[in-house]
Amino acid sequence: MCGSTGSRMGGLDFESIRHRVKLRRDTGEEQLYENRDDVSCPVCGTAFSEALATSERRCQLSPPAGVDICIVREEARTVVFTHAPADGH
Ligand SMILES: [Zn+2]
Repeated sequence: MCGSTGSRMGGLDFESIRHRVKLRRDTGEEQLYENRDDVSCPVCGTAFSEALATSERRCQLSPPAGVDICIVREEARTVVFTHAPADGH
C-alpha cells in the first residue's frame, strides 16, 4: 500500500539491510538496489523486489498497476521498496 508512512517511525533502518542487497545503479542522486536474497522489507516484513533510495524530496514514482510499494522517509533521503506481484507459477 502506498501512503502508509509514519506509523512505525524509529524502527526502520535501511542501513542495516543495505549490505544484503546489490547496488544496480547509482546516479549520485538515486541508488537502485536489487534484492536477490529475499531480504525482508523493513516496512511490511515481506521480501521486496527492489529498493530505490533518492535524495530528491518529490516522489516521481509511477509503478505499474499491481505493484505494491513501501516508503521509508529519512532525514536526507527517501527509500522506496517495490513489491512485484507473485507470479503464481
Ligand atoms: Zn514492504
